[in-house]
Amino acid sequence: MVTLSSAQAGRQAARLAGVHLTLRAAYAKALLAWLANPQLARLGRPIVTTGHRSVDEQNALYAQGRNKPGPIVTYKLGGESKHNAKPARALDVAFLLDNGQVSWSAELLARFAQLMKAASPAVRWGGDWQSWKDRPHFEV
Ligand SMILES: [Zn+2]
Repeated sequence: MVTLSSAQAGRQAARLAGVHLTLRAAYAKALLAWLANPQLARLGRPIVTTGHRSVDEQNALYAQGRNKPGPIVTYKLGGESKHNAKPARALDVAFLLDNGQVSWSAELLARFAQLMKAASPAVRWGGDWQSWKDRPHFEV
């Protein structure tokens, strides 16, 4: 089972501190459920990669895949994303693996999404969107 270093745990706490209470509570509940299930915990450790994102950071991300190199990762300009709200009404999840790598496995994210939705009916998952699926993304 993957455990976080104190520096990693500190970054997780700082990211979560900027997130809306309902979403933060749902994440805490889903994370506990994940870690309490040995079969899931063996696959990797959920981590929050982004909570709040500033308008400037959002605009920089929007430029990626348009007038900057890289794949398109967002369709929202600065101020339009739920990540830009204060506190943030969105968070993005990935998984820390045994080998230290970070995974955005669609299967792991789908499994975690079940726990997030079970944790709070207010949670919406980007993987359920009809058009562009944003699987790491959860919002309220
Ligand atoms: Zn997101």
